Amino acid sequence: DKIGLAGSPTKVIKVQPPPKTRKAEVIDGKKDVEKAAKWFLDKIFEALKEEESTLKEYVKPKPKVKVNGEIWVYIDHIGEKPNRASFEIMGEARRIADLMDTSLSAAIVGGEATKSLIDEVFEYGADKVYFAETKGFDKYDNEVYTRALSTLIKKYKPEAVFFPGTRNARELASTTAIEVNTGLIADCTNFDVDDKGVLLSTRPDFGGKEMSTIVCPRHRPVMVTVRAGVFMPLPKVPGRKGELVREEIDDLFTRLKVLDYRIIEKRNILAEADIVIGVGRGIRSPENIKMAEELASLLGGVVGVSKPLADMGWYPKDRQVGQTGTTIRPKVYIALGISGAVQHLVGILSSRKIGAINLDPSAPIFENCDFGVVGDIFEIVPKMIQLLKNKEV
Ligand code: FAD
Repeated sequence: DKIGLAGSPTKVIKVQPPPKTRKAEVIDGKKDVEKAAKWFLDKIFEALKEEESTLKEYVKPKPKVKVNGEIWVYIDHIGEKPNRASFEIMGEARRIADLMDTSLSAAIVGGEATKSLIDEVFEYGADKVYFAETKGFDKYDNEVYTRALSTLIKKYKPEAVFFPGTRNARELASTTAIEVNTGLIADCTNFDVDDKGVLLSTRPDFGGKEMSTIVCPRHRPVMVTVRAGVFMPLPKVPGRKGELVREEIDDLFTRLKVLDYRIIEKRNILAEADIVIGVGRGIRSPENIKMAEELASLLGGVVGVSKPLADMGWYPKDRQVGQTGTTIRPKVYIALGISGAVQHLVGILSSRKIGAINLDPSAPIFENCDFGVVGDIFEIVPKMIQLLKNKEV
């Protein structure tokens, strides 16, 4: 089980199928459609009422080892606006820092405007902030930021650097890894630490069919980019302070000339919704999606689709859920006529509860959901709509 590219600082140490973490309660909905529709709606309402468990008080794990370097999180931003994805990964980086018995620090690169981020970063859980000041470069410039971040890394020698999965941070992670001659493990969704203090980073691989655990055994720091939407931030503690380390970067040479920045306001409706009604190939035609839209609007949710529907142009691409679409974390995800291919599953497994309706009792979605009905969506969904409209549930 030892695979690795010759000369690469990282190597794959384990390949395994994606974990199954849900115990599905599945009922037959073919005989009594009304009973199944009621049961399914009750399950949805129960799930919506459940207390939010993810932003619970952080419980510090027992350290496994003691390492010398710190754990860093790179804070991605546009000028004074932080990218939330950086805060999202601070919770997981904090857990890893505690397992390694070391501190959690944040690294910020930027100019005058960027300084306003520092306080917020302490409030989100950093013990220390390293600020590499690049005068005149409030916004990302790959050459300048690579030099600034590598200067910090070479001087302060962290154990690991976590980058959010944003476009800029992913680019910066790769150019910085080359500059400091270390390994980069991209698009990770799970982390642990072994008893020697080596970070174990797991990511979906081979098109999502397997999970690979990858290490960077000899080079430091280990660099990882983290998939967006998988982890939750720590609760924000207003007024929380920490230590600030400033480093002025002199070498601000760049071959890029930025003429203009335009922010494209892109609200991610799928990522913000409490309920997502996922529609798959079982829906048969684009007109039938209206049925799912009606259900979504009665429940206060939005519609997402599997890849084939987006590919066929039946629904906008930005509503595609899954590995090559959006990773979602709603309170409830409902899969209608979706088989549950692993590439779809990796995008929904952080949902608090998953419900499914499918004709095929052996569809993989039933092994990865909390509640399910084996039945026809063209029978069950109209019944659910009727029950909701008549307020019979
Ligand atoms: P199908 O697999 O065809 O399933 C349709 C289901 O509907 C079946 O289970 C069937 O039993 C059920 N059904 C049919 N009629 C009814 C009915 N009347 N009532 C109830 N149930 C019914 N897929 C994604 O979704 N998102 C991604 O991001 C993604 N990325 C990918 C990336 C790569 C590199 C690759 C190779 C694939 C990717 N895929 C992705 C595709 C994925 O492998 C599957 O092909 C896809 O998810 C299947 O979509 P589906 O479940 O809608 O269709």
